[in-house]
Amino acid sequence: RRAAALSNVSGVGVTRDGTKVALLANIGTAEDAEKAGKLDCEGVGLFRTEFLFLDREDAPTLEEQTETYTRVFRAFPERRVVVRTLDAGADKPLAFADLGEEENPALGVRGLRLQRERQDLLDTQLQALAAAYQATGADVRVMAPMVATREEARWFAQQVKAVGLPKGGTMIEVPGAAIRAKDILEVCDFASLGTNDLSQYTMAADRMQGALAPLLSPWQPPLLDLVKMACEGGRATGKPIGVCGEAGGDPLLALVLVGLGVSSLSMATPKLAAVRTALSLHELGACQRMATAALKARSARKARQAVLDLADPIM
Ligand code: PEP
Ligand code: MG
Repeated sequence: RRAAALSNVSGVGVTRDGTKVALLANIGTAEDAEKAGKLDCEGVGLFRTEFLFLDREDAPTLEEQTETYTRVFRAFPERRVVVRTLDAGADKPLAFADLGEEENPALGVRGLRLQRERQDLLDTQLQALAAAYQATGADVRVMAPMVATREEARWFAQQVKAVGLPKGGTMIEVPGAAIRAKDILEVCDFASLGTNDLSQYTMAADRMQGALAPLLSPWQPPLLDLVKMACEGGRATGKPIGVCGEAGGDPLLALVLVGLGVSSLSMATPKLAAVRTALSLHELGACQRMATAALKARSARKARQAVLDLADPIM
């Protein structure tokens, strides 16, 4: 009976007692956008723009980028699209922005750091985004990857505003940025937790090494501590903070994240329905109790079990 009722859950993400949590899609291409645009979701929470740049000899032109971004925005009329500027460098090298070999690529000139070394690439990307925004009037928000400091967040938000785009934010995927989320949110418009990299950097475990998966579990208590700190920064500044790493697509963990205070969850599209259902079954107070229980646990396994014990039996 309950399963039948749940299969009808649709529409905006909402807890059982009516707290809204935007459920958003992670996409990588204009084709992805066109498919996701037909689904039951409130927009895009992470548009990874790398695909346009990687595996090519020259940087994509302003015209080429404008066309792609326009297609993406058109797929989401009346819905938000959060675009992440180029997250390349290190392990995702660009033939046209070779800064030389690095000993520790994951700790090197990647993400926003590369954008600052090669500001021509960022300028063209932001101009193309601005042109697509002008052409469509979409609800566009632009964020930078690998932000570590307040100064970086401020600089990036200024670049975004300088081309006439309305909102500039930062990803929080470096532990320092999570710890000082308040400082960062004071100087930009929103933040989104990248739990994949945040796990890697918190646990000092390469996310590409499958054997390290247990260390990289998003249930690890120190990762949850950092999410909590970041959410406190969100509350203190009144700025929205979402999640766009894999953690947001785990229905049980999604409840914990909502209990900690995130206001949006962005995920691979096949995960949307299960997360929507999980939310619909639990009140915000229950999510908060789950968050408290998870934070008290001393291991990833115990954190998950403690939350499961509090969840609706259908989970
Ligand atoms: C993350 O790090 O969690 C994230 C969403 O970005 P990516 O997986 O593209 O590094
Ligand atoms: Mg990342």
